[in-house]
Amino acid sequence: MRFTLSHIIDGAPVGGAATVAIVNPSDTGDIVAIAPTGDADDMLAAIASAQAAFGSWSRSGLIERHDILRRAAAEMMDRRAELGALLSREEGKIVAEGVGEVLRAAQTLEFFAGDMLRLGGEAGPSVRPNVSVQVTREPLGIIGVITPWNFPFSIPAWKIGPALAWGNCVIFKPAANTPACAYEFVRIFLRAGLPPGVLNLVLGRGAAVGDTLCRHAAVAGVSFTGSVETGARIAAACAASSPPKRLQMEMGGKNPMIVLDDADLDRAVEGAVSGSFYSTGQRCTASSRLIVTPSIRKRFVAAMVERMAALKIGHALDAYSQIGPLASADQLALVDGYVVAGKGEGAKVAAGGGPLVCRTPGYYYAPTLFVDTAPGMRIARDEIFGPVACVIEASNYEHALALANDTSFGLSAAIYTESLARAEHFKRNAEAGMVMGNLPTSGADYHVPFGGRKASSFGPREQGATAREFYSIVKTAYTYASPTV
Ligand code: ADP
Repeated sequence: MRFTLSHIIDGAPVGGAATVAIVNPSDTGDIVAIAPTGDADDMLAAIASAQAAFGSWSRSGLIERHDILRRAAAEMMDRRAELGALLSREEGKIVAEGVGEVLRAAQTLEFFAGDMLRLGGEAGPSVRPNVSVQVTREPLGIIGVITPWNFPFSIPAWKIGPALAWGNCVIFKPAANTPACAYEFVRIFLRAGLPPGVLNLVLGRGAAVGDTLCRHAAVAGVSFTGSVETGARIAAACAASSPPKRLQMEMGGKNPMIVLDDADLDRAVEGAVSGSFYSTGQRCTASSRLIVTPSIRKRFVAAMVERMAALKIGHALDAYSQIGPLASADQLALVDGYVVAGKGEGAKVAAGGGPLVCRTPGYYYAPTLFVDTAPGMRIARDEIFGPVACVIEASNYEHALALANDTSFGLSAAIYTESLARAEHFKRNAEAGMVMGNLPTSGADYHVPFGGRKASSFGPREQGATAREFYSIVKTAYTYASPTV
């Protein structure tokens, strides 16, 4: 089945003259959808529609918003097999991960449906006599949500869920290569009873529609997940707009996973395989630097190579596949470019190392493990965003910690050790927003904050109760009342 997609502006489908074919990365002969590529006028129409809707939506009752979020969550849960298969077909992650992601999106919406009911404030006396003070939160306004393709259901859920829960209107600009998931996501909200204009979808390239969104004066905030380079462009566009916009950005990582001599080897290998290669390594939390101390290094590498030989790479919708293809031809070229560079810089390939041919033509890549990696090599410094990990040797725990922190990123960091003292020390000293003990760097919960430090993140944390810091704005109200009546 081939979907014909449209923008969704003011609750209605809007087509466009220019279209693009969305190819299944597992089978390039399969066209998943035909999607319009929007322009600045489409974006301006969406913003106008959100402006018109904001007045009544921002004043809507909590229960109306709560019920809409819960109905959207329920439909996602009910349709998770179908939507998960669509996600796998469009993005390329295996269907078990696709279904899991749709379920996760539904759970995230459920969380925010509950969190919005805990909306509270503060009330207290003023420093001045007969004056009272109230601190409350109000909707921020019109919010631009710009998302990448690697989690086309769960990232929109953790941005759009709290945005709507807190009474904001949203312009949703998904990645150009996953429009079908975004289209289904928005239609579910409309069926759940969301009024027209509250959530608008504009499809197309970031440089055209995304940039218009970031520069528009009526947009109060932009929440973005994507690459560091795009983040810099978005930040510049938002800074140039007047009034200034609130900005939240999540931009990848080069996440270290330390394996100390005393680690549970089987658990560390399982963690490294899932952290580095599942979702085809296309996660900002992927474990890409495996920092290993001397006594366990040989056993760790041997066990990794053996375990990797058993991995089944194939079509995302085949039940036996454990790892699907990369998401696009561009990603394949990028990842392969890094692997070639790694070989050129003198790192050795212990497993994988190139594209794979499977039963259908697709963007398949062998999970790749580099050894003899020096910390200064490009493969050890840049985010590759593919199934590539490098083993870096550390002489001891202190050296491992220094290597782990020697990066411009700071999203997630993991340690495998049986020593409580070292695990605690690492928890305190890792320069990362998320720290994992005997767990891979990937795999975050939806009810607690998600985000990083340094070049990985900017602005308030996403998810959990901290989401409100971005999606609402504080008002401090003072009232004088005469002490006599
Ligand atoms: P990814 O490759 O992970 O999708 P990108 O950073 O390339 O990461 O893109 C993330 C999102 O940002 C996409 O929706 C993309 O279309 C959008 N985008 C790209 N360039 C711009 C821009 N100049 N302004 C606004 N959004 C952009």
